[in-house]
Amino acid sequence: MRQVHCQNCDQLIESKKDLFTTQIFFMVQAYCKKCYFDKIKKVSSLAVSNTPLNGRYSNFLAGLTLVGLILVYFAEIQYIKYPLILVLALVLFMRVYSFVRFERHLPF
Ligand SMILES: [Zn+2]
Repeated sequence: MRQVHCQNCDQLIESKKDLFTTQIFFMVQAYCKKCYFDKIKKVSSLAVSNTPLNGRYSNFLAGLTLVGLILVYFAEIQYIKYPLILVLALVLFMRVYSFVRFERHLPF
């Protein structure tokens, strides 16, 4: 099992409850609970997402994104179809990446 460390304080993250993944530009990074709330929550910009990538709310959003992706795929909207698919796929990819890279290594 691979160990997950906080990007900020390098502390070992031992459970999913302590793991907060966030997207900075196109990098998915892992933080412990303390660092996430101390640092990341204060920074609200387009580059730094305020919603953690992991967690129940994020899974719900990923579900919506998947539904959106399917709807867009079958929709008759030629002009924005491919850009939309690209954006939605990227959002979904970030979610999956967060899981594969960090979450699956941790117990609940
Ligand atoms: Zn930390």
